[in-house]
Amino acid sequence: MATTGEPIGAQAFIPAGARTLDELKAAAAGCEGCELYEGATQTVFGRGPAHARVVFVGEQPGDIEDQQGLPFVGPAGRLLREAVDDAAIDPAQVYITNAVKHFRFELRGRRRIHQTPGPAHITACRPWLVAEFALLEPKIVVVLGATAAKSLLGPAFRVTRSRGRLMPWPASAQHPEDFPVAEIQALATIHPSAVLRADDRDAAYKGLVEDLRVVAGALSR
Ligand code: SF4
Repeated sequence: MATTGEPIGAQAFIPAGARTLDELKAAAAGCEGCELYEGATQTVFGRGPAHARVVFVGEQPGDIEDQQGLPFVGPAGRLLREAVDDAAIDPAQVYITNAVKHFRFELRGRRRIHQTPGPAHITACRPWLVAEFALLEPKIVVVLGATAAKSLLGPAFRVTRSRGRLMPWPASAQHPEDFPVAEIQALATIHPSAVLRADDRDAAYKGLVEDLRVVAGALSR
């Protein structure tokens, strides 16, 4: 049990020699690598085909995702799917997952209010992300927002400064040795929930789509 002190991390729950994403998903359902499983409804694992050419990595499941057990099915997910369409990325070529796979929240009355995962949660959950990447062979990794950037690109990476630019992957990862894939590319952009929170939502949405058009362009080459 991971109720006090430093989380034990997800590594102990990852089946050795897992060969499919379904095997990982089944094992992740029982993960107790940090305390977030205690309050959440269920693990929300990644979703999409193993042959996907684009892998999107977000922050964590939200309230609706937690209840349905699927990533990006709430308002931010709907907005992301619209942006993927508007950028002309084939949704059949997308695998989507999160840096942290349980919903972190605080209770206010009966409402569950989103809380950003802390560094300990990001580190504890990272082995799932590494295990997913070991089975995926994307052409591009899209890093959505600061939490995913911390998990994949390191704490010093600033999405606002470096968004929309193709970077070499895994060379740009914080620990490239974790991602033994052929040379591909990565691109960071804002999380779709940041668009929903923006004062100028139209401008924020346009910026997200522009970044994703860079991805679409790279896929077509
Ligand atoms: S957030 Fe990640 S490490 Fe923590 S219990 Fe859930 S799946 Fe395991």
